[in-house]
Amino acid sequence: MKLSKGVIAVSLLWMSAVQAAEVNVYSARQQELIQPLLDKFSSSTGIKVNLITGKPDELLVRIRQEGRNSPADVLISTDVGRLYRAKQQGLLQPLQSEVLTRQIPAQYRDPAHLWFGLTMRARPILYVPGKVNPAELSTLEDLAAAKWRGKICIRSSDNVYNQSMVAGLIATLGADATAQWASGFAKNFAQPPKGGDRDQIKAAAAGVCDIAIANTYYLAAMLEDPKDQAAAQAVKVFWPNQQDRGVHVNISGAAVLKHAPNKTQAQQLIEYMASADAQQWYAATNHEYPVLAGVAVSPGLQSFGTFKADTLSLDKLGELNQQALMVMDKAGWK
Ligand code: FE
Repeated sequence: MKLSKGVIAVSLLWMSAVQAAEVNVYSARQQELIQPLLDKFSSSTGIKVNLITGKPDELLVRIRQEGRNSPADVLISTDVGRLYRAKQQGLLQPLQSEVLTRQIPAQYRDPAHLWFGLTMRARPILYVPGKVNPAELSTLEDLAAAKWRGKICIRSSDNVYNQSMVAGLIATLGADATAQWASGFAKNFAQPPKGGDRDQIKAAAAGVCDIAIANTYYLAAMLEDPKDQAAAQAVKVFWPNQQDRGVHVNISGAAVLKHAPNKTQAQQLIEYMASADAQQWYAATNHEYPVLAGVAVSPGLQSFGTFKADTLSLDKLGELNQQALMVMDKAGWK
């Protein structure tokens, strides 16, 4: 059959009209912490978002196995370590976006434009007032001192938040000094590491330890949760390293997959997540610090006060992840 040019043009138009725009998101974030935001995006753009959630490493395995045929457009992760891993495995493609470069401070995005931080969280020292005099607290480094023997609760070394925290120390102090620090720090544990960040706060409240290490959003969420409120109120936030580099911070973030079938929509989604509107939602709902300057934080976060954050490029945390694991393992940090 011979088709005139006009017929071809019309049929192409028709095809693009019936193929509704969509974007496929693979997320290590729990559905309830992201779905409302994706719905807001869909209603303002008409782009349908298909969400698949899973454990972070399982998502990476799935993307690798799907290869060129992977429908995944956007990967969302709750830690820079996983984004870096995806980058190392060659699963990502760069995104040149003026919006993202403008909205997100340089230390919170990949230097090669492969991933972008969307929310920031800090990992401060939480202490039990009455048991710890905050005047005695100073730095993360100091928590390796003998005076804290048997007083600290922290989760295990397989946790990526801890790996990133130790990677940050390696970037600052070097591997040898960090190894020394880790062996002192691990001696100060009140119990063998178990549970998540919330459990460390509960253990401190229950008298197991005087100091707990946890991300800010856990404490803020517990303060609003009737069943965890009492435990959360038993601890106070101390911002370490305020006289030097600032407290260790991490990000949740997003990246575009190498074989993304809907790259334009993927870019639109990530740019939306960095917009003032979305940043506001994150701050209010998830108790995370916006990466975009000028957006207000939740009352819970406000009650922790302001702080100086480490400006180390978070890419370093990914780069030093394996070394951090080795240091923790050697120190006997279970
Ligand atoms: Fe978390």
